[in-house]
Amino acid sequence: MNERNPISVPNKSLNQLSLTGHVAFLQNMIQEAAEAASLAPQCLIGLQRVLKYEYHLHGDGFKNQAGTDTPSLSVFKHWLIFLLTGYNLNIHIRFVENILSACKRSSTLHTATLKIYVYPSAKIFDFNQIGQDATLKIHEALIGMPESEIGDFIDKLTDKNHTELYRLVRKSFNGEPALQIRQYFQQKLPEKKKRGHPVGKFFDLNKIFASLNQEYFGSKLLRPVLKWSAQENRRRMGSYNLRTDTIIVNRALDKIDTPLFVIRFVMYHEMLHKFVGIKRKNGRNYAHTSKFRNYEKQFAEYAEAKEYLSHLRIDQHKK
Ligand SMILES: [Zn+2]
Repeated sequence: MNERNPISVPNKSLNQLSLTGHVAFLQNMIQEAAEAASLAPQCLIGLQRVLKYEYHLHGDGFKNQAGTDTPSLSVFKHWLIFLLTGYNLNIHIRFVENILSACKRSSTLHTATLKIYVYPSAKIFDFNQIGQDATLKIHEALIGMPESEIGDFIDKLTDKNHTELYRLVRKSFNGEPALQIRQYFQQKLPEKKKRGHPVGKFFDLNKIFASLNQEYFGSKLLRPVLKWSAQENRRRMGSYNLRTDTIIVNRALDKIDTPLFVIRFVMYHEMLHKFVGIKRKNGRNYAHTSKFRNYEKQFAEYAEAKEYLSHLRIDQHKK
């Protein structure tokens, strides 16, 4: 067993760090703890003290001019609370520890200098390598990833083709306990007013998502990021990005005369992509599988919506 000094509470100068600085600071401590012999009790107690200190420090800090928490601070505070709850900190450190040891076993990463960031990030994960410096960011929800899959995840990070990697990550991200962790952070997130623009001029994507989720998915589908596209698009009515878990609907449909069932159909189609996932066969990816098409036909106004969209003319130059 490695003897470790307990981590001491940092001095007041921490106060001056930016929010990003605080997150990076904590990540470094957690990585240090994970690099040490398995969860030396001293280490954990020290880290818990730092987390409590951080939480205390930000009780009133980082307010915006309106006196409310900024969204990123709100996430940060709830991340601290999350880590301090029950055994979450142990599980979190254990996960970082497993990632580190998988990297040491990896044929491509074992010589790299690694920085690992695990927190409720905007992406499911993000990997960057420049020379021997590698940075891996992973969403907090993945800390429950089975140890048996962590090695696979690390091995596939440096693959040219990321299909297998996404399949693996999505499996964890959409399973328990990741769902519970994601729900925790989703509930704590302040409603975004301007960013993302799910509320159009005439249609609110949040409401459309919620009603479809109830009618067709038993309200089981977790809400992805919902956005109207920035520009009108001539061909693409909608898209689902697996990596950022985002559904974008063509702004051209946000018109007073667009029938609601048309937008509902486009949204339903993209929700199915999230629900069904991608099938891999003979080295190729298939999104619109026969299974997908069968689900799609269950949409109540399927024929009418298809018909409407096939005749839709979109003038891209119109403002
Ligand atoms: Zn599609």
